[in-house]
Amino acid sequence: MRYEGPTELYIDGSWTSASAGTTIETVDPVTEEVYASIACAEAEDVDRAVDAAAVAAERGSEWRSLDPADRGRYLHAFADALAELEDEITMVESHDNGKTPFEAGLDVDMAIDTFRYYAGWTDKIQGDTIPVPGDRIDYTRREPVGVTAHIAPWNYPFQLAGRSLAPALACGNTAVLKPSSTTPLSALYFGEAADRAGLPDGVLNVVPGSGREAGTALATNGAVDHIAFTGSTGVGTTIMEHAAKNITGVTLELGGKGPNIVFPDANLDAAASGCHYGIFMNCGQMCWAGSRLLVHEEVHDEVVDRVVERAESTPLGGGIDDDGRMGPLVADWHREDVLDYIETGKEEGATLATGGGVPEDRDTGYFIEPTVFTDVTNDMTIAREEIFGPVLSVIEFSDTQEAIDIANDSPYGLLSGVWTKHIDTAHHVAESLDYGMVSVNEYPVTFPQTPFGGYKQSGFGREQGTPAIDEYTQVKNVNLNI
Ligand code: NAD
Repeated sequence: MRYEGPTELYIDGSWTSASAGTTIETVDPVTEEVYASIACAEAEDVDRAVDAAAVAAERGSEWRSLDPADRGRYLHAFADALAELEDEITMVESHDNGKTPFEAGLDVDMAIDTFRYYAGWTDKIQGDTIPVPGDRIDYTRREPVGVTAHIAPWNYPFQLAGRSLAPALACGNTAVLKPSSTTPLSALYFGEAADRAGLPDGVLNVVPGSGREAGTALATNGAVDHIAFTGSTGVGTTIMEHAAKNITGVTLELGGKGPNIVFPDANLDAAASGCHYGIFMNCGQMCWAGSRLLVHEEVHDEVVDRVVERAESTPLGGGIDDDGRMGPLVADWHREDVLDYIETGKEEGATLATGGGVPEDRDTGYFIEPTVFTDVTNDMTIAREEIFGPVLSVIEFSDTQEAIDIANDSPYGLLSGVWTKHIDTAHHVAESLDYGMVSVNEYPVTFPQTPFGGYKQSGFGREQGTPAIDEYTQVKNVNLNI
């Protein structure tokens, strides 16, 4: 089946071809065949999109002058348009990324919910009055930052683009979205929804293109006021360097190496299920994957047996007509990377408990077996680096402090998990973990209203919830001496 959705860039309220006429060919990770061919934005196109967004963000523009409640109505209409398109976006995302239709559906739902959540925020973004000496009146206003750039990764293409677009638009900003060239298709549906919802021209622009060309053009454009970047820690560093030159604000949502810590008193069924889901969902291609399983020695063998059993009975399959529970990796080159990590794990002395290879019963698709390593120590490469695939590293511990130390001994600090029935253990460990998010007795979990983001090299700034309002507004203090 070939792609029949939008194929052009969405700039200033119109579908437009790319200046150089270049295209991006996307490959379906299940069939290994070309699925779509769409326009590829060059630097010139990105600049056009930023110019349009800058005009739409000016004081006195239609968008900037809107009654906040009307901005909320636009966002509800936008969410309604996405909901009308939901089945199509789900199918496209599944073909483009390889994730199962079930997983793609969850992503689309989450994006729609996020737009509805922030639609409710537009008339509640308010400042403070501040007590100051004398008869003065001092107050703050929360104003839009202006033009926001959104650079998204390939693992949750639609959901993560929506995650930052929704609060940025709710706060009265305009936006330019550059999806990953590996999975650029679903982002184009934001353009389609903008059309259907009647958003003023230039408020939302979509420019699929390469990171090197379009991404650099966006991150270095001096008219951009805030960059919302989700991707690898390495590219995040480059984005910060670019942003530093223009003193542009950044939100960085980067990599992770999440620990799931299982204590002996835990409900082991729930823990095994959560730890399995936390690493094999989305074929392990998750910033918040629970890729390290820290298990107390008393329950180590029992938990490992359960997780291995679940891994071995996970049906593989992706795409609309080939639904399994774990889809393929996104691309051939990524499967090579993941297989290299598996070799490194063996060479460094970890024990391969299950998986480790390419399934023999699949003729096509970038599938890989759900893989579990035991006897892992936290200094091994497979415990330190983000593999971004279905590879679980099991590390044994003997007391609570050791578990906390191992969990915190990581350059990353995104999501962590704790499995225990004891509230005092849960509370103490949650407080002791250097992670932006801690989930007790389920993994992974997030909602539009809960802050998402990391400590350390997992980035800074927060998407979702109230903190995202801070990211996409700037505070103006007004002092009145009447
Ligand atoms: P990536 O860093 O390679 O690319 C992310 C985006 O940046 C893409 O759109 C890419 O085209 C663009 N890009 C690449 N080089 C660029 C440059 N020099 N200038 C500007 N833009 C550039 O990441 P990826 O491989 O697409 O995604 C996987 C990574 O994303 C993993 O590390 C994962 O942990 C991380 N991630 C983090 C979160 C989070 O919320 N913390 C969520 C999902 C993924």
